[in-house]
Amino acid sequence: MKQPENAGTTAPFSLHGDDTPLARELADLTARRRALETTNVRLNGKTRVMTVSNQKGGVGKTTTAVNIAASLASVGARVLVIDLDPQGNASTALNVPHTADIPSVYDVLIDEFPLADIIQVSPESPNLLCAPSTIHLAGAEIELVSQVAREHRLRTALEDYLAGLEERLDFVLIDCPPSLGLLTINAFVAAHELLIPIQCEYYALEGLSQLLGTVKMIQKHLNPKLHLSTILLTMYDGRTRLAQQVAEEVREHFPHEVLATVIPRSVRVSEAPSFGQTVIAYDGQSAGAIAYREAAIEIIQRDNAEPGVRETEEGS
Ligand code: ATP
Ligand code: MG
Repeated sequence: MKQPENAGTTAPFSLHGDDTPLARELADLTARRRALETTNVRLNGKTRVMTVSNQKGGVGKTTTAVNIAASLASVGARVLVIDLDPQGNASTALNVPHTADIPSVYDVLIDEFPLADIIQVSPESPNLLCAPSTIHLAGAEIELVSQVAREHRLRTALEDYLAGLEERLDFVLIDCPPSLGLLTINAFVAAHELLIPIQCEYYALEGLSQLLGTVKMIQKHLNPKLHLSTILLTMYDGRTRLAQQVAEEVREHFPHEVLATVIPRSVRVSEAPSFGQTVIAYDGQSAGAIAYREAAIEIIQRDNAEPGVRETEEGS
């Protein structure tokens, strides 16, 4: 079947009176684009620190971190992405140099460099900052074991950085490696919110209890503020029953955490990093980009920074 995502930008045929599923999908996409243009966003004046984690590999953590970050930046938020994965995929997607000679998160964690000294601005937007990862980070997992305050190093660096800023950041997104080692634990200790991307595939929920068990331990011993605020369903292919079933099951288990927006499987999304771009810059009107932009708006609107405060505000 023809991919609808690109066709929508050029509208090569009339949608009127055409009731095929493709035409319906295109009309829907056009309406969603329009809705995005007219949505008013209000940032809450706080810095929300979210870690994007799932110890499963290849579920869309990096894709989610960079595209949500770019979407947030595109509506005026100031965003920092911390690339905590030695693979450096987030740094690549944000087109930030991260060769071995570049100061990186490794130097922050191991040699206590200030975060301010390693942060770069993504060419995509002045609102989009990145603390890059280099290959050295691969050794950090082992090197951290013998360090003092090994679980708190990122948090301390981030707190110092945020405290010294003249212009506040609205979001910090931490892209984690696919493991529950010390790098991910540093992210859990530094963050208030956990964003879990879940791929709509078989085995999606497997391993989730282990992840949530680790989060409980962190809450108890290292960071009581951490909470699962957001689940995002990724790589959704609505044509398969499996994807629908997985989505239903996840929504049943986590009715409050799962975003209404679902990220479709999209060629544009997977192509963008090879151009050193997020999909928001690469093809901001494509179905994948629209979905990430909607997800970002939902994240802003849900305002989960402090559930206690949110409840009081809503009640007042
Ligand atoms: P890792 O565990 O290795 O860090 P990850 O969880 O960060 O992986 P990604 O790198 O974001 O996962 O995505 C895995 C692969 O799937 C990549 O090739 C990416 O381009 C592709 N991908 C992610 N989201 C989508 C999507 N919505 N549509 C199509 N391809 C996607
Ligand atoms: Mg990744």
